[in-house]
Amino acid sequence: IVQSVSPETSTLDSEEQIIGVELLCVVRAVLKKIKRRVLVGDKVLVGAIDWVDRRGVIENVFQRKSEIPDPPVANVDQLLVLFSMDQPKLEPFLLTRFLVEAESTGIPLTLALNKSELVDEESLEAWKIRLHSWGYEPIFCSVESKYGLDTLQFTLREQTSVLVGPSGVGKSSLINALRSNQRVGGAEGDNWFDSVLGSKWFEDQRVGEVSTRSGRGKHTTRNVSLLPVSGGGYLADTPGFSQPSLTKVTKQSLAQHFPEIRRMLKDSNPTKCSFNDCLHLGEPGCVVKGDWERYPYYFQLVDEIRIREEFQLRTI
Ligand code: GDP
Ligand code: ZN
Repeated sequence: IVQSVSPETSTLDSEEQIIGVELLCVVRAVLKKIKRRVLVGDKVLVGAIDWVDRRGVIENVFQRKSEIPDPPVANVDQLLVLFSMDQPKLEPFLLTRFLVEAESTGIPLTLALNKSELVDEESLEAWKIRLHSWGYEPIFCSVESKYGLDTLQFTLREQTSVLVGPSGVGKSSLINALRSNQRVGGAEGDNWFDSVLGSKWFEDQRVGEVSTRSGRGKHTTRNVSLLPVSGGGYLADTPGFSQPSLTKVTKQSLAQHFPEIRRMLKDSNPTKCSFNDCLHLGEPGCVVKGDWERYPYYFQLVDEIRIREEFQLRTI
């Protein structure tokens, strides 16, 4: 929360940052009129604060450093890509799709592999080496045995993170294991906020707002909250993109989402392929070689995106 002491006269310099205090806010009508949405994770200017009732009015939304649509969260610092070693088995092409989707947001990513207690040491070591060759340093963990959870906590500290991954890998279990029981700013035994959240008044406000904005029913709307993680930082309680559709990725941009290609381009001499629009599929003068493990996946994804782009062109 960034409080404006006196919203009419203050400049940014005179604003006072207040962190760790919960206020129930309404959004200034003028923001709604210009269709400025307030997202979870936003830094906002709050005025007209009533400290007794702990209410305020959101006057403005500060520029976001990042934003993801699903779940809708602003100022995300990190995507935590979670897969499992087994049950379901670690599937390299599916993992590649998630990594490419995560890379395409431009937000830094961390890869964590859960259920590591289900496989032996050799298998972990082999995957570690394999993923290293892809350009990633995985964190092995197990919600079941608590292995690696301290490392994950350390990675999440002072960051706003969103967990992404396919179903069944343990995302909900991990969120529950990492969430701190402490409510931000709430003193022990302080039930004010919970009582407002649970109240009929709040439900009415929320349902009303949702249905006017999106026209969707209450049950189809995905709610998201940021949970304080024990050890510091926030984790979205709703996992992101469970089906990576790669809709933001173009044929031309795909290569940037493979660390192997980024490295080959950086290390090669000259550092560019002969053609500016080279897709690195064996064109003459291409500096990207085909001798790396995920090259067939890259090839397959170029094809998939090519088909999608041609279909979109035809339907325009
Ligand atoms: P989500 O679909 O990714 O949210 O996965 P869930 O959190 O619902 O977990 C799916 C299943 O995996 C549940 O039965 C969990 O109890 C189980 N699970 C979660 N973490 C672990 C783990 O570290 N080891 C094992 N063996 N099972 C786990
Ligand atoms: Zn090339």
